[in-house]
Amino acid sequence: MGRRFWDYGKRYWPAYAVGFAFLLLTNGLALAIPWLLRDAVHRLERRAPLREVALVAVGIVLVAVLQAFVRTHSRLRILGASRRVVYDIRNGLFDHLLRLDATFYDRQRTGDIMSRAVNDLGLLQSVYGPGVMNLLNTSIAYTAALALLLHLDAVLTAVALAVYPPLWFAVNRLSRRVYAHSLAVQEQLGVLSNRAQENLAGHQQVKAYVQETHEVEAFQGLCAEFRRRSLALARTRGAMLAAIGIATGAATLVVLLVGGRHVIEGRMTLGDFVAFQAYLALLAWPTIALGWIVNVFQRGAGAMRRVLEILEAEPAVPPPAPGETHAILDGDIEIRGLTFGYPVRDGEPPRPVLQDVHLRIRRGERVALVGPVGSGKSTLVNLLARVYPVPPGTIFVGGQDIARVPVSWVRRSIGYVPQEAFLFSRTIRENVTFRDPGANEDEVARAIRLAHLAADLEGFPRGLETVIGERGITLSGGQRQRATLARAVVGDPPILVLDDSLSAVDADTERAILEALERERGGRTCIVVSHRLSTLRHVDRIVVLDRGRLVEQGTHEELLARGGVYARLFERQRLEERLEAR
Ligand code: ADP
Ligand code: MG
Repeated sequence: MGRRFWDYGKRYWPAYAVGFAFLLLTNGLALAIPWLLRDAVHRLERRAPLREVALVAVGIVLVAVLQAFVRTHSRLRILGASRRVVYDIRNGLFDHLLRLDATFYDRQRTGDIMSRAVNDLGLLQSVYGPGVMNLLNTSIAYTAALALLLHLDAVLTAVALAVYPPLWFAVNRLSRRVYAHSLAVQEQLGVLSNRAQENLAGHQQVKAYVQETHEVEAFQGLCAEFRRRSLALARTRGAMLAAIGIATGAATLVVLLVGGRHVIEGRMTLGDFVAFQAYLALLAWPTIALGWIVNVFQRGAGAMRRVLEILEAEPAVPPPAPGETHAILDGDIEIRGLTFGYPVRDGEPPRPVLQDVHLRIRRGERVALVGPVGSGKSTLVNLLARVYPVPPGTIFVGGQDIARVPVSWVRRSIGYVPQEAFLFSRTIRENVTFRDPGANEDEVARAIRLAHLAADLEGFPRGLETVIGERGITLSGGQRQRATLARAVVGDPPILVLDDSLSAVDADTERAILEALERERGGRTCIVVSHRLSTLRHVDRIVVLDRGRLVEQGTHEELLARGGVYARLFERQRLEERLEAR
């Protein structure tokens, strides 16, 4: 683990080295102050002229000011370096997250990833910053102050430091509890904000079902728990401060008792005694820091492990390499004996979701993919876009085995509209030109026309520049789906795949869109998954999947005449439509 910390930090070793040098200087200056104090006391004892003593006093002030200056710079170097280290890790983490494929995201919860990216990076920051700084500072301060204390009075040093080991122990134990309590507070704050956010977003539901009182009471319960946890945290913090106060007070008391006797017996000068007290006081903070440092490094190691779990996860689909050559594949598709199961946790064999699928789709052909829910339609089109790892030798696009060409070739050749219409909280233009931010006006206009978005845009306050989502307007389900369709046709990819992408659009508009795509297709291959069979009459061919197997294919009339899976699905839908129409 230490190696990994070093790997990320080593680039900034010069900054750490300069910081270390400043810390040495700071400690040297800090240790000079008691020595000057000792000197002043000696002069007072000798009844030296007051001017001499005043001169020493001025010296103390100057050293103190210089020390403050140098300490500030040591903090700037080391804490600054830690910000840069974490900046690097944070960028690397985001970069890697975008390289990981769907199999990773199927296993990880978004909240968990976010917590690693926020909380764990925060913990790493405390290791690289305050952790390293206090470790260095404490080591320097201890070595130097201890040497001076032993030099002044070895016996007194041993007695005074006897109180410190229990203090380390107490601070370590208590700061671990402080951490546990502050985690609990954070967690409850998360629950609280989640609940508040949900209630605000779902305010219509709360009011429609007259649940205001109930929701307010539930929220009060959560608030009470939050208060309880915050107070527990405050109590532990207080206990820690008290322990520190008691221990340092005890040390002072011991020094007064034992050291006072030494002075009275003439075994120690008054100046040494004063300096001794001052050195001991200098050790108080480094001692407290010691208990804390151990905790920070322990927590940091845990955080590093969690961050590395993401950084070391290997993408199952190799991500596009920078500077990769680009090629657009021809829209000719061949699937040969494709059997596929989703990757599962170690040990278990995957359950096949697609079995021995053979399918040939020629360039420019329009094919509909239908079948009952869960029959594997989305899986098949996901594999075509190589969202999941594709077994080699099973899917060929433009004559190329897609498992063996760079993934960007496949993705650039396919305009893929997934089942879930996802829009970014940006302008409509940015959403539509997502795959090609440099797309020209004509291209955008064509995409808008094909997706039947023009009329909707007129109703939006700022047309194409209207921001969608939390910061802007809310789109209806159908509008969202049509916007994602517009995104897919920008750049005119040779293959267009719609995975039930128009389910929230009314049947007439869906038919109109499909027909417009038909007219404009110009050699574009089109694969449409739709659960609304009535809109699919005009495709060239209908392919039917059932429980992962390709069971039938043909035109609408041929399949109806066969009286198989398709005929049954179609009959059922007709009945449903008639029932709805009543
Ligand atoms: P369809 O689109 O035809 O409704 P899918 O291709 O979505 O069907 O699903 C086919 C089967 O694969 C279902 O049994 C489903 O539970 C399973 N499945 C779909 N996506 C995943 C996934 N990401 N991980 C594991 N199993 C999945
Ligand atoms: Mg599906």
